[in-house]
Amino acid sequence: MKANTMKNLYAIENQKETIASINSKVSYILIDLDFSGNSEYFREAYSIKKISSDKAFFVFDCINHSCTKGYYNLTNEIYNLIKNNEAELKGTLSCDGWQDSRRVGNNNCRARLNYLVRVIYSND
Ligand SMILES: [Zn+2]
Repeated sequence: MKANTMKNLYAIENQKETIASINSKVSYILIDLDFSGNSEYFREAYSIKKISSDKAFFVFDCINHSCTKGYYNLTNEIYNLIKNNEAELKGTLSCDGWQDSRRVGNNNCRARLNYLVRVIYSND
């Protein structure tokens, strides 16, 4: 199920515009992903760098491997950030998938992602 979800997401990614086409001044974007504070799931924190020619599509794996949805989506948040020439965004996102396929309709996944997005502009 999750593999299908990711495949569908890549199909969406292909249709997205590039970061540069939203804001040509963006040099690159650093995204720090931290999963501390989850009692049931664990994954080491990691960082991702996106350059201006990358697609403006920001989706990351849920750390719960049986999650029915399987991803966190920061696409709208980061789109607004670079559209408005802003430099930083920090927040928490709770996964709204289901814990696993047997618990659809009953137990939300709720695995949490703490994110920090920093945009480096070319004229900084
Ligand atoms: Zn999840």
